[in-house]
Amino acid sequence: MSSITDQIHRQQNPMAENDQANRIQPTDDIPEREDEGLPLDGCGGAELFRGHTGVTYRDYLVLPGFIDFHPSEVHLETNLTRNIQLKYPIVASPMDTVTEDRMAIAMALLGGIGIIHYNNKVEEQARLVEKVKRFKNGFIIDPIVLSPDHSIADLYRIKEKYGFSGIPITEDGTRNSRLIGIVTNRDVDLEKDLDIKLRDVMTRDLIVANDGMDLTEANAILKESKKGKLPIVNKSGQLVALICRSDIKKHKEFPHASKDSLKRLRVGAAVSTQLESRERLEELIKVGVDVVVIDSAQGNSRYQIELIQFLKKNYPEIDVIGGNVVTADQCANLIRAGADALRIGMGPGSICITQDTMAVGRAQATAVYHTARYARRYGIPVIADGGIANIGDIANALAIGASTTMMGSMFAGTHEAPGEYYYENGVRLKRYRGMASLEAMEAGGKKRYFSEDQSIKVAQGVTGSVVDKGSMFSFVPYLMQGLRLSFQDMGVRDIQQLHRKLADGTLRFERRTVSAQAQGSVHGLYSYSSPSMAPA
Ligand code: GDP
Ligand code: 5GP
Repeated sequence: MSSITDQIHRQQNPMAENDQANRIQPTDDIPEREDEGLPLDGCGGAELFRGHTGVTYRDYLVLPGFIDFHPSEVHLETNLTRNIQLKYPIVASPMDTVTEDRMAIAMALLGGIGIIHYNNKVEEQARLVEKVKRFKNGFIIDPIVLSPDHSIADLYRIKEKYGFSGIPITEDGTRNSRLIGIVTNRDVDLEKDLDIKLRDVMTRDLIVANDGMDLTEANAILKESKKGKLPIVNKSGQLVALICRSDIKKHKEFPHASKDSLKRLRVGAAVSTQLESRERLEELIKVGVDVVVIDSAQGNSRYQIELIQFLKKNYPEIDVIGGNVVTADQCANLIRAGADALRIGMGPGSICITQDTMAVGRAQATAVYHTARYARRYGIPVIADGGIANIGDIANALAIGASTTMMGSMFAGTHEAPGEYYYENGVRLKRYRGMASLEAMEAGGKKRYFSEDQSIKVAQGVTGSVVDKGSMFSFVPYLMQGLRLSFQDMGVRDIQQLHRKLADGTLRFERRTVSAQAQGSVHGLYSYSSPSMAPA
């Protein structure tokens, strides 16, 4: 600048003289990454979890990485156990308000897995597992049937309760007997006398398909015959499934489905550490269970070690998930006994009061980090179980070493969870209860908490309710899309890369103060509408 223009400039901008002084001066006291000369923010996992303070998912964030890929390029495949891979890192918890056949089928179709609870009789649990294993997309494998002696009134009762009226008629009215006819709305809609027996109105001239036929072939028969229903029968003429024309139109493919080598859906089942489990296991294995979860609140016990050893000796082809554990020391015992994966968590669950009642447990992120770090040495994946309330918690659990996440409350309010919806103050809810709540213990859940012989019951869980989250078929894709976006922000394309970066310290974290946590959530608004966890 010339001196005259300089003077004019100074007159017009009295602050300009200080410009130079105000500029940030380069310094050389920033730690640099040796390889690239880049500043290194935050800390690695080891430093984040150093010391003896328990940390939860809310207490830290992953620092952003570099984005040079689209979220669709993020792959979330992972190992549930040593031998079982899943397309998505999600597991539905073995709780009686979360996982029965419908939830397990939905989870497996969507790329995760469900673990059937054991708060029931052996036969009942085996039946639920069998239903998942027998599931064929598009086939109704347990159609409602009636006998020829039922009346039109019985048919209308079914229509009222379930909404459909195309009912196969079998010899004795059970699913496993010979198919002799079918009734549909058109067989009865002009009849005034509701006492007429179905044998007098049913269609006997049936078009059926043989068991073993795939959906494409069966659909071709339906198309050709122009019928609304296609019963599938075995060689003895017994009904094994039903296909509905109305389902073909809305048929969906599930490319991420978790399947075994015979292309059946995968399913897990939980058992307790009690002796009766050995008989239970036999029944579960007979019907094709893929993986067994030994369900115990404190898994580091002689009972569990002996049960894992029993399973590994007698059924080496079945993978066993041991737990629950929260320390490396506990992991060591179960890994030594032969566990193929570990379930991590003592007290973080939404319905859980173990830490209040027992004063034993561990903050969940600390537990996941230390156990995952230890188990990784042996190639054993860990499942972060409990305390997950949103997509960010799933991402945080994976970022500190978990291979999968197990959830209860997240899935409890969906259509596929057991139980009926009800209304409270105009809100549609479903019940959700801890397996060690008094209510669940009365029904058998005490098996998990070593209190089966005790006349005085100390609850370690509560009973509550959760809001309707819609169907798993829209909820899970929503969660997984959110997770892909999270990975993109972290600059990581898959879970394996995430774990490598955690191990070599290049995944950077930062602890958050309580006020930083408050700032990270919605604040300062008079009112706002919360983004729905249940997409329409
Ligand atoms: P219908 O003609 O009155 O039987 O009803 P639609 O065929 O239009 O619809 C029946 C719907 O209910 C389909 O989506 C079926 O998959 C479903 N569904 C589930 N379980 C059963 C069952 O046991 N029997 C029948 N008929 N349908 C079932
Ligand atoms: P959520 O996903 O609801 O936060 O937690 C579910 C997890 O809580 C389950 O997978 C299981 O590990 C744990 N859990 C289930 N019922 C009980 C209970 O009654 N007491 C305790 N302490 N934990 C429970």
